[in-house]
Amino acid sequence: MPGRTHLYVPGPTNIPDSILSAMHVPMEDHRRPDFPELIQPLLEDLKKIFQTKSGQCFIFPATGTAGWEIALTNTLSPGDKVLAYRFGQFSHLWIDMARRLGFDVEYEEVPWGEGVPLDRLEARLKADTKHEIKALLICHNETATGVTSDLAGVRKALDAANHPAMFFVDGVSSIASIDFRMDEWGIDIGLAGSQKGFMLPAGLALLCFSQKALEARHTAKSRRCFLDIQDHITNNASGYFPYTPSIPLLYGLRKAIDLLLEEGLQNVFARHQRLAEGVRRAVKAWGLELCARDPKWYSNTVSAIVVPQGYDARDVMHYAYHRYNLSLGAGLSEVAGKVFRIGHLGDLNELMLCSAIAGAEMAMRDVGIQVTPGSGVAAACEYWRETAPAVKPR
Ligand SMILES: *Cc1c(COP(=O)(O)O)cnc(C)c1O
Repeated sequence: MPGRTHLYVPGPTNIPDSILSAMHVPMEDHRRPDFPELIQPLLEDLKKIFQTKSGQCFIFPATGTAGWEIALTNTLSPGDKVLAYRFGQFSHLWIDMARRLGFDVEYEEVPWGEGVPLDRLEARLKADTKHEIKALLICHNETATGVTSDLAGVRKALDAANHPAMFFVDGVSSIASIDFRMDEWGIDIGLAGSQKGFMLPAGLALLCFSQKALEARHTAKSRRCFLDIQDHITNNASGYFPYTPSIPLLYGLRKAIDLLLEEGLQNVFARHQRLAEGVRRAVKAWGLELCARDPKWYSNTVSAIVVPQGYDARDVMHYAYHRYNLSLGAGLSEVAGKVFRIGHLGDLNELMLCSAIAGAEMAMRDVGIQVTPGSGVAAACEYWRETAPAVKPR
């Protein structure tokens, strides 16, 4: 089909042309004498994206899933108790991994469409007077349901219970798009993947460890080799990696961080908020509901839209793709067929997002869902017009 494919899954996201160009490089020696001139500032500037001064960043040739494993195995020993909440496919998979790696996983089932229940978390931490819980596994933005949890609230619960558990956060679909404050919120490990807010292809797991999490490696008995941060600590100190890095991805990451810092992190967060609100206005105009059950859970990077009873969201995606060249996000596991998702993160503006809303609208009508033609696009566009930055008259 001529023209661009419209990519509105919540990852991989659209890659800006300037990042594509930055990655188009001949291969070079990753042991060359001036390689640290690329790596040392890169690791330093990555800390700004995690909003940390005291943490240490790591770049692994892997994906977000490896980030979960890096966090667990570098800080904990088999049998250690961890506490988690299951409210979507990604929080589920981290729990599943922790069990498979031999940790004692305590988790609570939370309805899909809600996030971390802060009151129950605080109560559970207070009840754990022997401090058996060694770490919390928190999925900041549950990409499957479009739900964002309150990390500052998690920190408050830990403090209120005066509990020393480490605070691990999956920020794969939040970091670089939704406010994430490593130091201020006392997060011990934040982890991300390159293909979401960082606007890159998949292939890098990006992590930040607090000093407390770094210290934990000395007592953590979990087996680890390829994913051992110690080898990175040793090699990164002089600006190198323990094994061959992906050179194009590193140049891409350099460009991505430059773009994010040039725009300004606060502006990046505000842009995501405003674009997301436009999508939510569209959903309301269609007369449909989000999977997120309350505005306090609304995600600024992905919206999971519930199709009316009697329809299958997979049909909407099918028509969107085959008729309009539009990729929408699928409903995963428990919400398969019940929701489709619009990813609205990364390199994005109003008119790009209009194509996703228009295509979703057309595909819904194609399968018989009675949304008013143009209603979603109109609602989003009016919101974006009303909130558009002032422009000096000509
Ligand atoms: C995408 C995603 C992951 C998985 O990352 P991969 O890069 O596919 O391994 C984990 N957690 C969340 C919240 C995600 O959105």
